[in-house]
Amino acid sequence: MPEGDTIFRTARALGRALVGKPITGFRSTYPKLTRFDDDTPLAGQCVELVESRGKWLLIHFSGGGTLATHMLMSGSWHIYRPGERWQQPHVNMRIVIENSEYIAVGFRVPVAEMHTALSLARHSKIPRPAMDVLSAEFDAEATARRMVAHGTEEIGDVLLHQEVMAGVGNVFKSEICFVTGINPFCKVAALEEKNVAALISAAQRLVKANVLEDSGDSIVTYGGRKRRTTHESDPGESLWVYGRKGEPCRRCGGLIRRRLQGPDARVTFWCGRCQPMPDGSEIDG
Ligand SMILES: [Zn+2]
Repeated sequence: MPEGDTIFRTARALGRALVGKPITGFRSTYPKLTRFDDDTPLAGQCVELVESRGKWLLIHFSGGGTLATHMLMSGSWHIYRPGERWQQPHVNMRIVIENSEYIAVGFRVPVAEMHTALSLARHSKIPRPAMDVLSAEFDAEATARRMVAHGTEEIGDVLLHQEVMAGVGNVFKSEICFVTGINPFCKVAALEEKNVAALISAAQRLVKANVLEDSGDSIVTYGGRKRRTTHESDPGESLWVYGRKGEPCRRCGGLIRRRLQGPDARVTFWCGRCQPMPDGSEIDG
């Protein structure tokens, strides 16, 4: 599943292609979207803003409507010049937004909803900007309060709760716990206030570092920003712990461990030495 940094970069690229230019065409295989377009034609309107909110991508139109999409596992947005060959088969097309210079194609986008400002504000799943680690409006203190409310859960699970803090996915989860020295299996109630603050600030820092203009597609938390020369390179090479089971910890040389965590059995990596449990207990991995 794309993490918040991927959606942010997609939103930025779509924004550059679409914002401020009159829409010349809109198509979709989703009847709800075409019905909206029949009632309120998007052609002739402009795209005013494209933004990411956690893992949601929002396209705001000048007529007041907002297209909210979620990629889940399968979806992606591509940008083409008119006449350019698509990199996915046309049967995968779900949404097309065109202007005179670009064609934005949403392939296999599984969730696509048209909203008004009111229905968007009432939407329980789409995070507010104040909850999004990449937003200028991000509110760390309110996020800490929401996190602490999940005291009985393990921090590795809570970091993935998009309604607590939006934008962190499974790779960042392990990396954030490592750089703060916190064991991902520690219950939130066992964390000190300063630990919670450190986790939130690490989340902001690591995710933000991956949306810089020169960021590649793979997540980098370790070793600076190296240009990738091949796609076959080991995804763990630029990370502290994720994907590095059995390899030596980059800080202490101990072995990196791996274990499935939480109700969704998401994979978690950590160093037993650098990330001890507060009560000294051992987590098998
Ligand atoms: Zn270590």
